[in-house]
Amino acid sequence: MKHPFRTQGGVLQIGGVDLRRLVARAGRTPFYVYDRSLIDARIRSLRETLPPDVELHYSIKANPMPAIVHHLASRLDGFDVASAGEMMLALDAGTSPERIGLAGPGKSHDELRRAVAAGVVIHVESATQLHLVTALGLELGIRPCVAIRVNPDFKIGKGGMRMGGGAAPFGVDASQVPALLRDLTRQEVAFAGFHVFWGSQCLHAPTIVQAHRQSAELVMRLADSLEAPPAFINLGGGFGIPYFAGENPLDLHAVGDAMCDWLPDLQRRLPGTRVVLELGRYLVGEAGVYVCRVVDRKVSRGETFLVTDGGLHHHLAASGNFGQVLRRNYPVLIANRLDDPAQERCHVVGCLCTPLDRIADGAHLPAASIGDLVVVLQSGAYGRSASPTDFLTHPPPVEMVV
Ligand SMILES: *Cc1c(COP(=O)(O)O)cnc(C)c1O
Repeated sequence: MKHPFRTQGGVLQIGGVDLRRLVARAGRTPFYVYDRSLIDARIRSLRETLPPDVELHYSIKANPMPAIVHHLASRLDGFDVASAGEMMLALDAGTSPERIGLAGPGKSHDELRRAVAAGVVIHVESATQLHLVTALGLELGIRPCVAIRVNPDFKIGKGGMRMGGGAAPFGVDASQVPALLRDLTRQEVAFAGFHVFWGSQCLHAPTIVQAHRQSAELVMRLADSLEAPPAFINLGGGFGIPYFAGENPLDLHAVGDAMCDWLPDLQRRLPGTRVVLELGRYLVGEAGVYVCRVVDRKVSRGETFLVTDGGLHHHLAASGNFGQVLRRNYPVLIANRLDDPAQERCHVVGCLCTPLDRIADGAHLPAASIGDLVVVLQSGAYGRSASPTDFLTHPPPVEMVV
């Protein structure tokens, strides 16, 4: 199994620290641990590969741990947040409000009021939201800053979680944007830009290139009616990471090279407009692992089960999100036996009383004993915060950054 971590004496090292030492530091298993140096390496490769004037935002929902948000605040150009809670995390990390964009189809009155008061950019997703924001601005004596989230009129080829090209609760249909822009000019708000989010977890560079091009064309068309170019356009991200056997990393160079082709045209047509990409899992997903311990080893009808103290209550995505139709294994290691040959076929399961609590089915692993450490790779995004930690009332996992 290929992974970005060093190993020593058959034991995984995270951030240069022996995993057994990290277990002692956490005080218990299970836990998540995130490696800062891998996050930094990822940012470096993005900065080196994409055109220098492209801005990078972090989508906090991928991993809202405050230490991660704080780490990224000084290294990226802004944050995309999807709730008032995430907005507070971004503000607490020292980010200036005009660098924070709040999106979401169901922003509540309270949430919008807090966002207007904070001065963040509110990505309105309907005329209702726009009018509410205007009213809150008048009430608070603040001119709110808004962007329009556009539901794109194109659908992207293949792969990942697709959005756009159909009916959606997210954003405003591209065809309705001109009317909303006319409405907007009559409101006491400042217009800042457009936000196009077309999909997620895409590993196929030509698809991303096509989505970027089409998003850029859409935005240029919509901006034609404006008196001045918008302050920014956010073209989404969609950069995926490989989770399953047979998946390959994204060819970032292909995406960067294509940007160098289409960006100059956009910059000519919209002089001064900042181009933003928002990334979640691509920044943090590969930098994190989930660590649990084998608490039992048993054989049932000829099949070996490694029972761990972890499970879907901490890591729903690795379990297959409560019964995905086609469940696939996240990459799993016996992290203290990395030099042993994979000589055993076994099922790694969690500690919950449900057959859905599976970490790896039919994995080929070194023969593991009670007390061994199971590591789930690619776990830095959509881990703890995207899991039902209350389910079965076990303690939540520890989280740490090294
Ligand atoms: C979740 C989300 C992202 C981040 O998606 P990743 O696949 O983690 O990169 C970006 N933009 C918006 C609007 C989102 O909702």
